[in-house]
Amino acid sequence: MALSSVWRVLTFLTTKETRMNGSALVGATARVAVVGAGPSGLYAVKALLESDVGVGIDVFDSLPAPYGLVRYGVAPDNQKMKSVIRVLRGSFTEGNDVRFLGNVTFGEDITAAELRAYYDAVIYATGTQGDRGLGIPGEELPGSYGAKEFVNWYCGHPDAAERDFALHGPEVAVVGAGNVALDVARLLAKSTEEIAATDVPDRVLGTFSSSTVTDIHLLSRRGPAQAKFTTVELREMGELANADILIDPGALELTPEEEERIAADRQQRKNVSLLREWAQRPPEGKPRRLHLWFWRSPVRIIGENHIDGVVIERNALQADGTLRGTGEYETLPVSMILAAVGYQARALPGVPFDEHTNTVPNKNGCVLEAEGTPRPGEYVAGWAKRGPTGVIGTNKNDAAETVDNLLDDLNDLRNKGRDSSRDVTKLLRQRGIDYVDWAGWLRLDTHETTLGEQQNRPRVKIPDLLSMLEFTRK
Ligand code: NAP
Repeated sequence: MALSSVWRVLTFLTTKETRMNGSALVGATARVAVVGAGPSGLYAVKALLESDVGVGIDVFDSLPAPYGLVRYGVAPDNQKMKSVIRVLRGSFTEGNDVRFLGNVTFGEDITAAELRAYYDAVIYATGTQGDRGLGIPGEELPGSYGAKEFVNWYCGHPDAAERDFALHGPEVAVVGAGNVALDVARLLAKSTEEIAATDVPDRVLGTFSSSTVTDIHLLSRRGPAQAKFTTVELREMGELANADILIDPGALELTPEEEERIAADRQQRKNVSLLREWAQRPPEGKPRRLHLWFWRSPVRIIGENHIDGVVIERNALQADGTLRGTGEYETLPVSMILAAVGYQARALPGVPFDEHTNTVPNKNGCVLEAEGTPRPGEYVAGWAKRGPTGVIGTNKNDAAETVDNLLDDLNDLRNKGRDSSRDVTKLLRQRGIDYVDWAGWLRLDTHETTLGEQQNRPRVKIPDLLSMLEFTRK
């Protein structure tokens, strides 16, 4: 047995009793802070609990609600995917020394240096906070948005509580060939009844209900054989009750090299096969149309105080795999553009950040200084570690790798002499931080699901922060 494993078993035996006392602080137990209660943070908590090491864990989140991207990124019509919550919430049950400390903003209410002093180890699992931009003229016009703004709005994120989107169309463009672009385009294509079957806030449902959008243009800068859509998500587009799919069959003629490549790539092969099937379908006269464009980049958004259209240029693939514009332009008469071209993490105060990869520099989850030296006791998991790739489940193995390395270091970290009598909640109270604990979140959760039951919906999200806080206390 490796030395670290022997130590883990010994620690487990000596701390097991003191560990099992619910939410009280336990002196002898190693304490870990997890910053971010999204899927990567909560998979890390789960991996820590499964490790047989006596660990007490505090999970911080800037919002009064847990689940991060599951609550605020997974599309509201994808309730099946949200059922992963059943797994993630298990860590907060009676008997585990795991506390939720919501409504605590890292870097403002508590700093990296303080977490290092209060805990043996810290895991940053903060995901990505911003959108990548298009970088084209006219992007600043009202009506041009990053997908994250739109996703935040329809998912009821407090950052977008004051936002509204004019879904007056009749034509809108969604840029990108990834799953976020599919989510956004799909929701725009759905009927009021379909949106009403989701957990969107009431105000968002009202806006979708009065939408006069008829045509949604999904713009992929590469071809169908290079798109990043996953097949399950793409297949849903072909099943839309409210929208016909329109694709130029010519865009699906691949080069012999592309045919060879997709023959060896299951996802691309299936994607192209679905797209070919749809390209042959005659339109059924459904209320909306989803136009799938390939080899097209937006190059300029036109208009003055609002958007009159977007100029798109046809692209061609060069031998080295890069794209070049062919100089053939068209204008689409859209009034709104949503750029779903990837998310981007922002630097966390007091934590190293790589401006090129937009991630926290790390080796298998162990945080490194910019010059590559390790930062003992600091770890990173999820999108902050590897960038915005993969599906929710990808974070399970990702978090397990980080936790494995943390556990290997824990013996050394515990010898650093942390003052185990200090409880961070005392510090937060002294600062007047109105943190939300698990019981508080459950009160809000119950309120939302009760509202949902009254309207025959899975839940109705409360989007504004003050109301959320109020319901955590009631
Ligand atoms: P993504 O998968 O990286 O796709 C981004 C797309 O934007 C790519 O097609 C990219 O094209 C394109 N793009 C980038 N810059 C562009 C530009 N300047 N102009 C035009 N197009 C541009 O990112 P995402 O869609 O944001 O998704 C993030 C992650 O979340 C992915 O791993 C995704 O699978 C996951 N996700 C999963 C689900 C689900 O499972 N239901 C739902 C949503 C998101 P290139 O390929 O040419 O760079």
